[in-house]
Amino acid sequence: MTNVNRIRVVVLGAARVGKSAVTVRYLTKRYIGEYSSTSDLLYRHSVTFDNVITEVEILDTSKCGDGCLYEHIRWGEAFVVVYSVNDRHSFREAQELLGQLAKLKLPSYYTSLLLGNKRDLDHCRQICVDDGQELSLQFGCQFYEVSAAENFAGVSLAFQSLLREAKSVQLLK
Ligand code: GDP
Ligand code: MG
Repeated sequence: MTNVNRIRVVVLGAARVGKSAVTVRYLTKRYIGEYSSTSDLLYRHSVTFDNVITEVEILDTSKCGDGCLYEHIRWGEAFVVVYSVNDRHSFREAQELLGQLAKLKLPSYYTSLLLGNKRDLDHCRQICVDDGQELSLQFGCQFYEVSAAENFAGVSLAFQSLLREAKSVQLLK
């Protein structure tokens, strides 16, 4: 295990969709229910792909203005765009964020994941799976529906899949 690489991941999305919940779930396997939302938080951890250690930095963003969003987008190379399946407004915001990503990052390579969170709230769902799938196809990103509250495995699978793709993109450069 010799190479040490780095992947910078940014978690974006409307307020209260569960950006912090999915990030903490992925990193600690735990769901604690309430999370600080006053500032951006940067986490570091390492993952091993094919015997190569990769340092992963994950920026869990909180509400900020456009200037701040551009900074985050410039900084990152892999993006998790979260919406909540019971919140139509958050889906529209996810759509806008994917558009901003394409505008600011293309033609450079970047990796993105559209994450529909809170799937446990199926009884008050406003966005169906097909809508999420269709949006992800439109922007060429990965797509998962998860519940940070109920399930670690789905969240973990989604992050791992994003990181694996980000890793292959780095190798292409
Ligand atoms: P953020 O503002 O996007 O970082 O959202 P938070 O992670 O702070 O979560 C906002 C609220 O949604 C909190 O009360 C969480 O407990 C709740 N929440 C997060 N994920 C889920 C989920 O998967 N299911 C349900 N039912 N609630 C969730
Ligand atoms: Mg948060």
